[in-house]
Amino acid sequence: MDLKTKRALLHLIYPNRCPICGSVIGAQDRFCTDCESRLTLYDDSFCPPEADSFTAVYVYNGSVKPAIKLLKNGICGNADYALGMALAEKLRKTDIISRCDMLVPVPMWKADIRKRRYNQSGLICRIISAELGIPVCVEAVSKVRPTAPQKLLDKQLRSINLTGAFIAVPELAAGKRIMMIDDICTTGSTISETASALRKAGAAEVHSASCCKTLPDKKK
Ligand SMILES: [Zn+2]
Repeated sequence: MDLKTKRALLHLIYPNRCPICGSVIGAQDRFCTDCESRLTLYDDSFCPPEADSFTAVYVYNGSVKPAIKLLKNGICGNADYALGMALAEKLRKTDIISRCDMLVPVPMWKADIRKRRYNQSGLICRIISAELGIPVCVEAVSKVRPTAPQKLLDKQLRSINLTGAFIAVPELAAGKRIMMIDDICTTGSTISETASALRKAGAAEVHSASCCKTLPDKKK
């Protein structure tokens, strides 16, 4: 059964809801019209140092925050579909995605996956994969030790915090053109460290994309 049919059937039992305000929306809708109109589209030239390219759909701000919160709180609702479809649509417009061999979610530490019951970037990958027909390879790179939440650290500590935290599997990554997927990108250090691990394992290209991107704090 394809994703569209599955959603139409599920909608009869559990009506689809906007992941921002919670109002009932159509089976294939991502957000309600009001919430979608308040989202800010991301359009910047940022790229994490070790990645070949980067793209994001929305600027991370208060308008999109409830959807990201839902995605991270272990319930998810329609957040993976809404954000995943939006990212698939953005990626479809790039020439990079058509030559990528696989999608790889930014990995989480195993204890964190147990707590949340899923890796939210993995859920986003599943939606993009169903929409664009590109396989997902979750095992290509793993997080091998816990790290402190990046948002609590300054720029220097963020980089130290992640050094050596990711290891990629050469048998899966070597020679591959990879699209790494994350839900939200702040400084890009997580994507950069993961991309670096994939490169060490022989990946030919490591591109990256996230549903949301924070903008630099103007005060700094
Ligand atoms: Zn809404």
